[in-house]
Amino acid sequence: MVVVVDTLSATPLRPRHPEKVNRPDALSPPKPDWIRVRAPTTRGYADTRSIVKENGLVTVCEEAGCPNIGECWDKKHATFMIMGDTCTRACAFCNVKTGMPGALDVKEPEHIAEATAKLGLAHIVVTSVDRDDLADGGAEHFAQTIRAIRARCPQTTIEILTPDFLRKDGALEVVVAAKPDVFNHNLETVPSRYLSVRPGARYFHSIRLLQRVKEIDPTIFTKSGIMVGLGEERHEVLQVMDDLRSADVDFLTIGQYLQPTRKHHAVMRYVTPDEFSGYEKVAYTKGFLMVSASPLTRSSHHAGDDFAKLKAARAAIAR
Ligand code: SF4
Repeated sequence: MVVVVDTLSATPLRPRHPEKVNRPDALSPPKPDWIRVRAPTTRGYADTRSIVKENGLVTVCEEAGCPNIGECWDKKHATFMIMGDTCTRACAFCNVKTGMPGALDVKEPEHIAEATAKLGLAHIVVTSVDRDDLADGGAEHFAQTIRAIRARCPQTTIEILTPDFLRKDGALEVVVAAKPDVFNHNLETVPSRYLSVRPGARYFHSIRLLQRVKEIDPTIFTKSGIMVGLGEERHEVLQVMDDLRSADVDFLTIGQYLQPTRKHHAVMRYVTPDEFSGYEKVAYTKGFLMVSASPLTRSSHHAGDDFAKLKAARAAIAR
C-alpha cells in the first residue's frame, strides 16, 4: 500500500473516493509473510489485459486492487464488473470508485460474451457495482448479460456476484429467471461490523436474498463470503456460518481483508493460516458443500475449479 488516496482512473480534479478524502488516516499493521503475492508480469497476464482493454471492459480484479491478479490473469481468469466503474455506495473496505455512475452501455452484454469467447472461459464470473440509481438496481442488465453469454458460449458455466438490490422489488426474481449456475452475494462481514464496514446494507436483507434464490430455483448453487481482520470475533464468524446454512447457502468463502488506502477501514488483525484452516473445518461440519478459507481467498479466486467441486459434492449427496 503506497498511496493515500488512490486516483487510479480518476481525473485529477475528482478523487476516486471523494467521501473518504477528509477522513483521518487509518493505520494498519505491516503485512505478514503469508500475504506476499507475485507481481503480474507474465505473457498470460498481458494477453488477458489486452482482451479486457480491446473490449472496453471493466474488471473487479483491477478496480478492487485484487492481490491475486498476477496468478488469475496468467490463466486468463478475469472477473468482469458490469454497469460501469463507479459505485453508488461507499463501503469502508472497497476500492471501487464512488459517485454517480453514467448511463448503462446497452452493448455491454455482447462485449462480455465476446470476451468470454476470446478468453476461452469454461466458467465466467460477472459482478457489478451497486446501481441504487436504477429502478431495478441493474437486474435486467445482469439478466441480459447472462443470456448473451449463454447464446455465445453455451458450454460456459456462469457465476454472478450481485449487489443486494435493496428496496428494488422484483429485481432478484429477474436475475434468478436468467438461470445463472452460481448466485453469489457476499455478506462481507459479521453483523456487528455493518455500521462501520458496510453501512448502506442490511445484514438480514442479504441473508434473505440468498435464501430467496434457493426458494425460487433450488437448482442454482448459492455462495457467499466474508472478509476477516475487520474487528470481528470468532464466535461471530461461526454465527454467520449458521445464518448462511439456515438460508441453505452451499458455498462459503473467507479471506483476509486488505486495506486499499489509508483512508479505508484499517486492518485490525491478520488472521493466521491456521485460524483459516480452523474456520474451514468448522464450516464443513456445519454442512456447506464447499468452503474456501485462506488469507488470499476471494469470491472469484479459482471459481471454475471450485464450481466443478461444488457440482461433484451435490451429486455425491444425491447418490
Ligand atoms: S481472485 Fe477474482 S478478483 Fe482477484 S484477480 Fe482473481 S478473478 Fe480477479
